[in-house]
Amino acid sequence: MGGTRRVLVVEDEVSIADAVAARLRAEGYLVDVAHDGPGAVARAEATEPDLVVLDVMLPGIDGIEVCRRIQARRPVPVLMVTARDDETDVLVGLGVGADDYLTKPFSPRELAARVHALLRRVDRARELHPEPDPAESVTLGEVQVDLVTRRVRRAGTEVHLTPTEFDLLVYLAARPRAVQARERLLGEVWGWHGGAATRTVDSHVKGLRRKLGTDLIRTVHGVGYALEVPAGEAGR
Ligand code: CA
Repeated sequence: MGGTRRVLVVEDEVSIADAVAARLRAEGYLVDVAHDGPGAVARAEATEPDLVVLDVMLPGIDGIEVCRRIQARRPVPVLMVTARDDETDVLVGLGVGADDYLTKPFSPRELAARVHALLRRVDRARELHPEPDPAESVTLGEVQVDLVTRRVRRAGTEVHLTPTEFDLLVYLAARPRAVQARERLLGEVWGWHGGAATRTVDSHVKGLRRKLGTDLIRTVHGVGYALEVPAGEAGR
């Protein structure tokens, strides 16, 4: 995908925000900075960034709520910055809708590498045609998935999925009832091969269940997940 990518950096510690912004600008990104939660939501709305780097601990409203509000308006990849590894665990468990996590302290270079990787992954997923059938929409019970506009409706009401949640849903929906190992999903949806970050998959499944209903995706204990096609449907 061509064009300059726009990144919104949300961080209340000015020295960190400045260092991150400088690094990203040096790598060719257009960068906006917000120093608190309400400012972040307003900036995201005004500038429509391609990616948001979001510190969890913020004055005003915290990063979790900022993530929800930004995602509710417009799905955008979020790289969440946490203070500790165990904080990341809690957030993954909550399924807050971030696409990746980075724990402080980190180097601006490390963060920029994660930003590249996340944007690459999102681009790749957008380029991929939904397989194996290039149908323009998929119906899963009361859930309707438009593959072209990447919009999802549940019982007629629009549901906002994060880019990764959408890609995971489409991947599972293309293979109804087939059990997919979490490691395989990480490789296919996230492009992470041989990784051990299977909790990331759990987190996104949790998010999908919360938004689309608990029956849609079945847990196969010790293995992974499978999409359940509601009775009477052949899978689309
Ligand atoms: Ca902070």
